[in-house]
Amino acid sequence: MNKSLNEAKWVNSYTHSLSPDPSSENHPREVQEHYSWVKPTRVPDPKLLLWNTQLGNQMALEKPLSTSELFYYSGNEQPRQAKPFAQNYGGHQFGHWANQLGDGRAITLGEITKEGQSWEIQLKGSGATPYSRRGDGKAVLRSSLREFYASELNYNLGVATTRALALVETGESVIRDLFYDGNPKEEPGAVLTRISSSFIRFGSFELFSYRRERDKAQKLFNYVLEKFYPNLIQNDNPVELFFETICTRTAHLIADWMRYGFVHGVMNTDNMSILGQTIDYGPYAWIEDFSLSFTPNTTDLPGRRYCYGRQPYIAQWNLERLAISLKDLGLTTEGFQKGIESYQKIFSEKNKKDFSLKLGFEKKLSEDEELKLQLFSLLENLEIDFTLFFRLLSKIIKKEIDSASFLQKSSYKKITETDLDTLNFWLKAYQNRMLKEERSIEDISLNMKKVNPAIIYRNYMTHLICEDLSQGTLNRAEELFAIIQDPFNEKWESTNWFIKRPDWANQTPGCTMLSCSS
Ligand code: AMP
Ligand code: MG
Repeated sequence: MNKSLNEAKWVNSYTHSLSPDPSSENHPREVQEHYSWVKPTRVPDPKLLLWNTQLGNQMALEKPLSTSELFYYSGNEQPRQAKPFAQNYGGHQFGHWANQLGDGRAITLGEITKEGQSWEIQLKGSGATPYSRRGDGKAVLRSSLREFYASELNYNLGVATTRALALVETGESVIRDLFYDGNPKEEPGAVLTRISSSFIRFGSFELFSYRRERDKAQKLFNYVLEKFYPNLIQNDNPVELFFETICTRTAHLIADWMRYGFVHGVMNTDNMSILGQTIDYGPYAWIEDFSLSFTPNTTDLPGRRYCYGRQPYIAQWNLERLAISLKDLGLTTEGFQKGIESYQKIFSEKNKKDFSLKLGFEKKLSEDEELKLQLFSLLENLEIDFTLFFRLLSKIIKKEIDSASFLQKSSYKKITETDLDTLNFWLKAYQNRMLKEERSIEDISLNMKKVNPAIIYRNYMTHLICEDLSQGTLNRAEELFAIIQDPFNEKWESTNWFIKRPDWANQTPGCTMLSCSS
């Protein structure tokens, strides 16, 4: 039986185990401790837009139907046993140490537990905290919708991630300058309920290391180890194993991003989870017209530090920052090297295997890497949609479509004869390689559809949903939620969503690129 948030079993292990800021004043400042007590800000007219029944059932939480229940998810009221707080952490932003950052627009209500599992419940966009610096701590509906869909899509693709339980419109406008071009606009505000067993980041360790606060770093480490890595405690060198485990998890995470074309957009060390999950969805995108140098983040444009092709390298750079902060806790040079080597090995092996499976190859042949390299330049030169390419490839091999209609459905370019020849040339080599699988085309195509989703979440979809919501309808929002919960299902191929980004979206702000402004 599902229950109200008020009747859940609360344990609040983070606040029990770590040190609170002695001041409960809520104004921007430097905080020496692990977290600050802070209450969410009330909102004028909360409305529930989306509820994640699947996750609610896992957590044994009922959908908030009454106003008093909804108030827990809008921040207007708190469950009796909740002990709301904002985390303190630092981070490297765009390659530079940024000092204290912390939860500037997220407040954790506390942690609930059921049958040995536990979840932190966090309200994102619920008002200012001591870490809000110059921000208002609020979030706009557009970005909250994006985080809701993206985190749930990643979950259903099998990519480690924080999750989204509820999305509430606040009835209040929030002012944002979408392109930092001096044209601020009022937009509807929202509060997203995010769920994870922990929101601790690489930057949580970095902050106390930079401040030379060894005791606080040790306390944080003890908590993380006991709560999330208990099997490492008995070991002679838990910090080494801890680092290696995070390296392993991060390798899996980044390989998963690469296989589905997910570009996080802001891989600062404060946005890297110590559980190896995707965290803090900002200006992310699933790549459309393929390019290794694609970044969805306008702020990242000058250097493209966080572009698709650099994600594996940046994750390693971030792991190196984490390692430096673990030095005081006993991480040796050997431990550091061991972790980084594991990261490189696991990422590289998984990445190769994932792309082979995307192409329908189960055998490992020496010619495969060359074929993949040729594929990347083909995708880039012909401006082909990454998701549609692999999904339609499983149709082309069954001769359900020909190469001309394949290009017409998947390329953003005005197609020439030469383009078609280029594609056909690659397809010929690909089909020759396929013969060496010695499996039926039927079987290959079926397996390809299990690893290549029919649908990913695209920015233009946010635009359509926001348009619907301004007219008071949730039809497309709910339809899309159903789709992203089952992204490999063949039935979506016959819907209007199985298309490349429509032309109108190229001219619509926020449909091809985004800023961090949310
Ligand atoms: P991000 O790169 O979006 O993860 O954010 C970096 C830092 O800025 C974090 O400490 C956030 O909590 C903070 N931040 C971002 N947006 C806001 C906002 N609207 N109000 C307050 N703090 C914010
Ligand atoms: Mg962040």
